[in-house]
Amino acid sequence: MTNEQTLEEPKPVKKGMLDNVLEQFNHAADQINLNPNVRKILSITNTEIVINFPVRMDSGDVEIFTGYRVQHNNALGPYKGGLRYHPTVDINGARALAMWMTWKTSLAGLPYGGAKGGIQIDPSKYSAGELERITRRFTYALGENIGPEHDIPAPDVNTNAQTMAWIADTYMSTKSTSERSKNMHVVTGKPVGSGGLEGRDRATGFGVFLTIKFWAEKTKQSLKGKKFIVQGFGNVGYWSAHFLQNEGAILVGVQDAFGSIQNKDGIKVEDLFNYAKSNHGSIVGFPEAKVLEGKDFFGLDCDICIPAALGNQITKQNADSIKAVLIAEGANGPTDVEGEKILLAKGVTIIPDIMCNSGGVIGSYFEWLQNRNGELWQLDEILLKIEKKLRTTFDKVTEYSEEKNLDLRTAAFCIAIERIEKAYILRGIFP
Ligand code: GLU
Repeated sequence: MTNEQTLEEPKPVKKGMLDNVLEQFNHAADQINLNPNVRKILSITNTEIVINFPVRMDSGDVEIFTGYRVQHNNALGPYKGGLRYHPTVDINGARALAMWMTWKTSLAGLPYGGAKGGIQIDPSKYSAGELERITRRFTYALGENIGPEHDIPAPDVNTNAQTMAWIADTYMSTKSTSERSKNMHVVTGKPVGSGGLEGRDRATGFGVFLTIKFWAEKTKQSLKGKKFIVQGFGNVGYWSAHFLQNEGAILVGVQDAFGSIQNKDGIKVEDLFNYAKSNHGSIVGFPEAKVLEGKDFFGLDCDICIPAALGNQITKQNADSIKAVLIAEGANGPTDVEGEKILLAKGVTIIPDIMCNSGGVIGSYFEWLQNRNGELWQLDEILLKIEKKLRTTFDKVTEYSEEKNLDLRTAAFCIAIERIEKAYILRGIFP
């Protein structure tokens, strides 16, 4: 065979979340002159677990599923991060999301590293019984790759408190009777009444709202009357909208996996929530709003845009059409590097994911502590504690960005990476 036959014109490779997180990381690493050895360590993941496992379906047939757990770094403490159930879950996505968790926990000052995982599955195609068996079998297969002092999963896209309860129960069942209750904190985001934290359900959305509120205070604006749009009406989207509406802001557009809606005069958040609940989780057909073409969603007239669904949603394709002056990243990695450049050039402020949505993992940390210490905390004290932690982070990031003349994401990454670098320098590298 000659070369001519084998050499093909290289196809343009579509950039994924992993390219984005690595570009973000390297850009920040350049700013702080990161120790080259630490840069090498943080550029790759520590451990990657890929498991193909069989589960019996309701029909009696056996189906094979693929589950992932990627552990990026644990220099600051046990691995931490969610498990998502989505058809787009793959090894590169899990790597990217695990890296973002490392920066997120470091930035929040938590004693954790970063991990992420999930199952490549469309959960809407399975019964509750099948999802329970899939979750339990995956947990069993993960075995000691997770653990309360080693790697602590939590909810993410399409997983919830029920999923976490199944994981905790399965994991604890593999322990001897006297050890079981000591392992409750193998996952966070459990149901209240089964080791869960009051308010963990709203922690991420509450955090998104708080960072927007801090931004409004800093720029001397009121949230009253501000128009906002939300992509994703799951846990994060709903709670962010709930808290913003309480503050007088007006929800004018929503997009979910099934469609998009708009109403210039405002959509009542609780009405939409109740409608979606009775409509298999979808916002489509909500009577008090007009249908909108999906491609026009990000261009809606508004002040604040909250992407709270999947990664790579704001790109060079749509960044220019965005009218919002503030983007609050409820999702992980919703804005790609090129999209961000366009937005920054337009003067749009972006509250980066690793700060904006960190209320969730901060809540997880409190749940983990509560389980570990055998305590039960009250909702009001928990929300106050989340607010205190987030305010400290917000102030640190905004000060750093002003002092060094950096955008908020780069500032947040610099702070997060410097903390890990310090841990490596202090400890040294074995042997
Ligand atoms: N999945 C959430 C996140 O992306 C929460 C992770 C956790 O609580 O461990 O931040």
